[in-house]
Amino acid sequence: MNVHDSDRMVEVLRSAGGLGAERIEEADLVVFNTCSVRDKAEQKLRSAVGTLAPLKRARPQLIIAVAGCVAQQEGAALLRDLPYVDIVLGPDHVAELPALLAEQLAGAPPTSRTEFDIAAPRFLTWPTRPLASGAPERSPAIAFVTTMKGCDERCTFCIVPYTRGPERYRSAFDVVDEVQRLVELGTREVVLLGQTVDSFRDPSLPLSTFDDASDSSVAQGDESQFPALLYRLAEAVPTFDVARSNSPGLARLRYASPHPRHATASLARAHAELDVLAHHVHLPVQSGSDHVLRRMVRRYTSAEYVSRAERLMRARSGLTLSTDIIVGFPGETEVDFEQTLELVRHVGFTSIFGFKYSPRPFTPALRLGDDVSEDVKSSRLERLFELSDDLSRAHLARLVGTRQRVLVEGPSKSEKGSLAGDRVQGRTDRNEMVHLSHRGAAGLVGKIVDVTIVQANRHSLLGTLDDSTPPVRLARRRLPVVES
Ligand code: SAH
Repeated sequence: MNVHDSDRMVEVLRSAGGLGAERIEEADLVVFNTCSVRDKAEQKLRSAVGTLAPLKRARPQLIIAVAGCVAQQEGAALLRDLPYVDIVLGPDHVAELPALLAEQLAGAPPTSRTEFDIAAPRFLTWPTRPLASGAPERSPAIAFVTTMKGCDERCTFCIVPYTRGPERYRSAFDVVDEVQRLVELGTREVVLLGQTVDSFRDPSLPLSTFDDASDSSVAQGDESQFPALLYRLAEAVPTFDVARSNSPGLARLRYASPHPRHATASLARAHAELDVLAHHVHLPVQSGSDHVLRRMVRRYTSAEYVSRAERLMRARSGLTLSTDIIVGFPGETEVDFEQTLELVRHVGFTSIFGFKYSPRPFTPALRLGDDVSEDVKSSRLERLFELSDDLSRAHLARLVGTRQRVLVEGPSKSEKGSLAGDRVQGRTDRNEMVHLSHRGAAGLVGKIVDVTIVQANRHSLLGTLDDSTPPVRLARRRLPVVES
C-alpha cells in the first residue's frame, strides 16, 4: 500500500509538471513516505531527515515533506521535532501535494494536513496514460488497485486504524473500470489493495445485499462483498490468452491482505471457480495460540484459522499460503510460541513475514506491557525463520523439473540497473521468484513466458525458457538445492 501511495505521489507531481531528479542534491522537493507499523521505521525516518540537514542549510529553498503513517501519527508535532520539515502529509492528502509545494515555494510557513476524508473519501487511481511513463522502477505489467482504505478491526497491537482511519470503500463500478483500463494498457497482473481487503463492501449497495447466508461459519456481522467483486472482475475483464499473447488480457488477479475473519466459503468458492485468481493467498495469522489470539482481538481461534486456510487450499489444487506472524506479544509464553510453530508446520506456509512485537502509540496492547524480553523475541524470531526456511526450501525443491508460467518483472536483483543484462527475474502465479538467463532477456520484461525449473535456491528458483531447453525430466530430484 505504501508503494502504491508513493507511486501516486510521483504521479500527481508529474501531472503538475514535476520531473524526477537524478540526484538528491538536485531536488527541489524530497518526500519521505513512511510506515509506522513498527517503531523501527519511525526511527529510520528521523535519521533520514537528519542526513538532509546539511543540504537544507546550504539551500534553504529545498522543500522536505514527510508523508504516510508517521506523518498521520505525529501531525504538526513533526514540524516541531524535525525543524527541517516543511510539509506533513497524511495518507488521505496525497492529491494536495503539488498545491502545498507551490505554497511552500511561495514562502508559506510549514504546514500539516492530517484530517481523514471520512465524509467524501478520495481514491487516487492509476494514470490513464501508458504505464511505461509512470514510475519506471515498477514493473510495467503489474498494477495495484485500491478497493478500500482504513481499517475497522481493532487488533490490539496495530496502529493502522489510528493512522489510516475508519474503513471507506470504492464503488465496485470504479474498481472494475480501473482494472479494465489498466488491462487495456497492457497490465497482466492486478493486486487489489485494502487493509482488510476482504471486508470490502460496495458503498453503492444496501448493506444486506450480499450477505453470505449459505456460509454458516461466517462470523456474525460479516457482510463482505469481496467475492462478488472478484466474480464481477472476472466477468468484465478480458483474460490473458497464450495463443494471443500480444493482446490485452489479465493473467493474474491477487489481493492483499485478507483478514481470516472474512475469508468466507464464498471466497474459497471464487478460488475454485475463477481461473484468473492467483494460486496464492497471503493470510496473516499473527499467532497459533488461542490465548494470544484472544489478547490480540483477532476474533478467530487457531482451529478456525486452520479450517479457513485448508478450505482455500482445497478450493484450488496447488494453492499456497503465506502469512504474517508477531513473536513476543505481551504475555506470550514458550508454550504459546510452540503452538505458533505447530500451526506453521501444520498449514505449511511457503513464506512467512515474521516480526518482533513493537509497542505502538494509541494501541490497546500498550496496557498489557511489553513483558517478553528482547533476547527472547530475537530467539523466537530466529526459530520461526529457521522453520519457515525449511518449509520454503522443501517447497521450492519440489518444483525442480516442473514447467511454470512466469511473468517477467525486471532485471535480476543481483544485476539491478543493468537492464541490458541477460538475467531477469519474475514470479510464478504462486509468487515464487524465478531467475531466468537468456540472451536478450531484457526484452522479456513485462511478458509471460513458460519456463522449466532447473534449480532451487534458498528463496528463489532458476529456470530456462522452454523453447530453448531440452526436457530436464531426467534431472528431477537429483539436482542439488544450493544456497543463493
Ligand atoms: N492490515 C494489513 C497490514 C498490517 S501491517 C494486513 O493485514 O496485511 C503488516 C503486519 O505487520 C501485520 O500483519 C503484523 O504481523 C505486523 N504488525 C502490525 N503491528 C505490529 C506491531 N505493533 N509489532 C510488530 N508487528 C506488527
